[in-house]
Amino acid sequence: MYETIDHLLAGPPSGASEAELVDWIAGLEAVKCTAEAVQAEAAVRLDEAVRARQAEAGVPARRLGEGVASQIALARRVSPEKGAKLLGLAKILTAEMPHTFALMKAGLFSQWQATILARETACLSLGDRRVIDYELCAMGSGGEPAKAVSMGLRQLENAAKKVAITLDQASVVARAANAVKDRRVSLRPAPDTMTWLGALLPVKDGVAVFAALDQAAKAAHAAGDERTRGQVMADTLVDRITGRSTTGSKPRIEVKIVMTADTLASDADQPAMVEGYGPVPAAWAREALNYAEVFVRRLFTDPAGRLVAMESRSRKAPDGLAEFIATRDGGICRTNGCDAPIRNIDHIQRHADGGTTSAENLQGLCERCNQAKEALGWQARPGPDGSIITTTPTGHTYTSPPPDTWAQPPPTWSRAEFGLRDVLLDHDLAA
Ligand SMILES: [Zn+2]
Repeated sequence: MYETIDHLLAGPPSGASEAELVDWIAGLEAVKCTAEAVQAEAAVRLDEAVRARQAEAGVPARRLGEGVASQIALARRVSPEKGAKLLGLAKILTAEMPHTFALMKAGLFSQWQATILARETACLSLGDRRVIDYELCAMGSGGEPAKAVSMGLRQLENAAKKVAITLDQASVVARAANAVKDRRVSLRPAPDTMTWLGALLPVKDGVAVFAALDQAAKAAHAAGDERTRGQVMADTLVDRITGRSTTGSKPRIEVKIVMTADTLASDADQPAMVEGYGPVPAAWAREALNYAEVFVRRLFTDPAGRLVAMESRSRKAPDGLAEFIATRDGGICRTNGCDAPIRNIDHIQRHADGGTTSAENLQGLCERCNQAKEALGWQARPGPDGSIITTTPTGHTYTSPPPDTWAQPPPTWSRAEFGLRDVLLDHDLAA
């Protein structure tokens, strides 16, 4: 058996028995749980320290705590969105769910298990949340282990739901109504140059969409259509949303493909990039360019893959530098660990601090990261190789590597020429 954490982390000795190996696996699991609890504690303390410092510097109350989630995200190498969730969970655990938190600290309960409990009790009053915390995570009066420890994730979720409904049915019903606000559509890459288009919808809407597509499939089948049911449903979905078959006109949809001039002209096999999807085979990209009904913007790269010029096939003129940056950065926020789509093109070094409005000093950021970098004490500067070095208020630095497509832009590009006032969402410029 291991004696200390260092001993445990060094790994089982050679010749360890099967029982010892199992002990090591279990011991390390406990360390992970405890570590997550201590991380939560540190996160709450960081939040308190930052708020105090910001308040002293005169930051308005509604902006206190800005940037903390992003600092946690960088330190834990996750997206800022996840960082915010982790900080929220940490606050709930330390302030409102003492038994759950104690189980984590004791190495018996993971962050994910705690997340389930926090989520299922989110709609309840503090008093009711504490009841569930006690019911599921407190030790029995005779020292029996807490009920939650031996439950599977699904069981845990159901147990929490059951108690929540018993305690406060009205809140659970209200929460279901509130969930409608979260309806949305998402797109993620699937293998083989396919994508998953998803929608989170209220039950009645989701069922109605599916029934409409199902009906179209039945009608097509009755008319002798040889496509499968799934194929007809998928085609009908695209037809109806884009107006592909009914309006007879080209849909106003643009697919951006980044490729070398070589790849376009010949049978070269360097992969092309589709913005919002990822790498695709060159042959696929060439075929897409010939597909008359989709606007495709070719963005040429040099053989090293760096973006060098843009050419528009659609009627609309290129939006210029901002679009160049969004494409150069692959459509994805430049913050390390952040996978969110770009929503803002912003200066790396602030305009007020002498940063220029040029491709080298611009970055694509998601909304959250754009906010975080405006918080007190954050700084960033561009590296000569296209990287971005961000310094957080604690003095920690994080380097975002240059995107594959990074290259110096043509020197003639300027703010005026490309109407950047219209497309550049920038705190400095807006002021
Ligand atoms: Zn981001």
